[in-house]
Amino acid sequence: MLTKCFGRFICTRCGKHYVQKSTLSRHVRYECGKQNQFKCPYCPKTTRQKYDIKLHVLKIHQERRDEFEIIYRYHI
Ligand SMILES: [Zn+2]
Ligand SMILES: [Zn+2]
Repeated sequence: MLTKCFGRFICTRCGKHYVQKSTLSRHVRYECGKQNQFKCPYCPKTTRQKYDIKLHVLKIHQERRDEFEIIYRYHI
């Protein structure tokens, strides 16, 4: 997964590069291939963080808040 090139650490999956190996490791573990994996059940909006979907629904789909709490807890 990790290659070093010209003093930079490259993610072999997506090509992003980082100066710090620890930053790349975090990217591979938590970010790479996981972009926008959480989807709003009510519109095409997607986010990278689960919590961002919650913020989105509470803001945009306020009338669905109660039913969303259940979806959020068990199905996302
Ligand atoms: Zn990557
Ligand atoms: Zn939405």
